[in-house]
Amino acid sequence: MLTVSNYHYIRPSYNANYPSIFGVTPDAFKNQIQLLKTIGDIITPLDVLNDIETILESKNNYILITFDDGLKEQYNYALPILDELDASAIFFANSSNTKEEKVSTVHKIHLLRSLIDSTSIFNRINKHSHIVLTSSEKKTAQSIYSYDSKLSAELKYLLNYKLDFKLQEELITTLFNDYFEESEVLQSLYMNKEELKDLAQKGYLGSHTHNHYPLGLINKEAITFELNESKSYFEALTECPIKMVAYPYGTKEAVTKEVSNMAKQVGYKLGFTTNKGSNTISNDYLVLNRFDCNDLIGGKNSK
Ligand SMILES: [Zn+2]
Repeated sequence: MLTVSNYHYIRPSYNANYPSIFGVTPDAFKNQIQLLKTIGDIITPLDVLNDIETILESKNNYILITFDDGLKEQYNYALPILDELDASAIFFANSSNTKEEKVSTVHKIHLLRSLIDSTSIFNRINKHSHIVLTSSEKKTAQSIYSYDSKLSAELKYLLNYKLDFKLQEELITTLFNDYFEESEVLQSLYMNKEELKDLAQKGYLGSHTHNHYPLGLINKEAITFELNESKSYFEALTECPIKMVAYPYGTKEAVTKEVSNMAKQVGYKLGFTTNKGSNTISNDYLVLNRFDCNDLIGGKNSK
């Protein structure tokens, strides 16, 4: 059995005008890794890659630690803790941050939302897009973003699922540039090339695709590009094979059968979603479940 614990932000404090960046502190992370060790064996990404069948078949609880988004704070805070506790993890990064020196729209949104209130962002976007959510879409929004307030869940749903990408990027980028300097955010938010190479040499680097789009909602050519571009870019940069992918957002809408088939076709061996649950031999290797760290022992939602 394989249990995966997934993390995003890891920083000592989460102070913002409007709290919309959530994650764990280094202390909480360390504590959780120690607790996870009491319920299973933390294994290396290379072990998972090489022995996936044995691991899924086994009655033993194997645990894989994963990080999404290629954030510098993961390298700075999580990696030393993992080393100290003799544990390891795989870090899924987006290649557009390094290759095109672009801040991902998803992170522009996080940063904007920590600085400006949801209503103002909502109004500004509505003015340009004229999209209204139906009541069933509002319900879906709340079930996908169950940790968020109603308005903030609807805003996230509108941004991530209803706006066409070009329009979303345009609107958010205009807003973002009013408040932030992209080059400064790039340097402080994401791992640099040396850090990515270092991770790859340990077998710790995976792909989170090129641009962080929900793949299930874009066309076939774009899906192939997103999957292939990050794989080939990171392989050329690090001279190491990239065999694992974590699909951005990782929901059922974002990871369709077409998406996982494509991932296999472009050469990935393992693919990770954000569907909750452990994995056994009945799981498709390209559609593996992951728990949000909050839902596992030592996490905020765990009793
Ligand atoms: Zn992500």
